[in-house]
Amino acid sequence: MPSAECPLCRAPADPWRRKRRFEIYLCSGCRNAFIRDEDVPDDLEDIYSKDYFEGNEHTGYPDYLADRPIIERNFADRVEWIERLGAPGPRLLEVGSAYGLFLCAARDRGWDVHGVELAADCVDASRRDGLDVVRGDFNAAELEGPFDVIAMFDVIEHLRDPVACLARARELLTPGGFIVIETGDHATPWARLLGNHWYFLDPPQHLFYFSRTGLSEVFSQAGFSSDLRVRRMGRRVSLKNICFKLAAAAPSGAARRAFENASMRGIGGHLYLNFGDGMLVAASPG
Ligand SMILES: [Zn+2]
Repeated sequence: MPSAECPLCRAPADPWRRKRRFEIYLCSGCRNAFIRDEDVPDDLEDIYSKDYFEGNEHTGYPDYLADRPIIERNFADRVEWIERLGAPGPRLLEVGSAYGLFLCAARDRGWDVHGVELAADCVDASRRDGLDVVRGDFNAAELEGPFDVIAMFDVIEHLRDPVACLARARELLTPGGFIVIETGDHATPWARLLGNHWYFLDPPQHLFYFSRTGLSEVFSQAGFSSDLRVRRMGRRVSLKNICFKLAAAAPSGAARRAFENASMRGIGGHLYLNFGDGMLVAASPG
């Protein structure tokens, strides 16, 4: 298998993992991993519709809104962490705000919240909750900045050009403002142990796979300080969602059907999971 050029730092990259029919390359320079641009389906952004959040795509979420109470608790933890970092003001923008559950959690605690989101159904639902959400691509959307905090949860790995997105965020920040992102960390012990079975390895939806040092390089390229504040925060996950993920990973038909049945029958409850393989990161303009 030939090597590829890293789209982030231009260093050579070698084949690292293979999942579904996608080859994932690991860069020898910045140590981030990626799928090649020519392997990304042209209509990738079309999957971010209602189906993505309702289990009809065998990716994304089995039933995102059914998990609303536990997702809101996860987001409330993140709002508290952001508050401890000391933003200069209350204006907050979330990029990829989905159904607005983070925005609701932040609004409940007094933040002046705004969102930008691709999926029309999500935008409509957010507006019914009284949220100010612009529909469109963050890099092109008309947004009334500046903002004191810009947040992106589980978004950066989906982007075709993460550096351009972070650079746009930097332009929209107030002095003293900062960006917060959350993504997986492929260099952690749990991710290495699971190898190809790491749940976060999800091509072609996830185009990039970062490590902490690799992410710091990406932030530097976008004009941020490489001095990141990082927190390994866990999250509550419903048993329904866990079964959905296990069904997707199950090798055999019987195991897969068992997990699918458990997921579809609406198994109740949740677990707080923290394998240390995620990173919640805050960065300030450099
Ligand atoms: Zn690289």
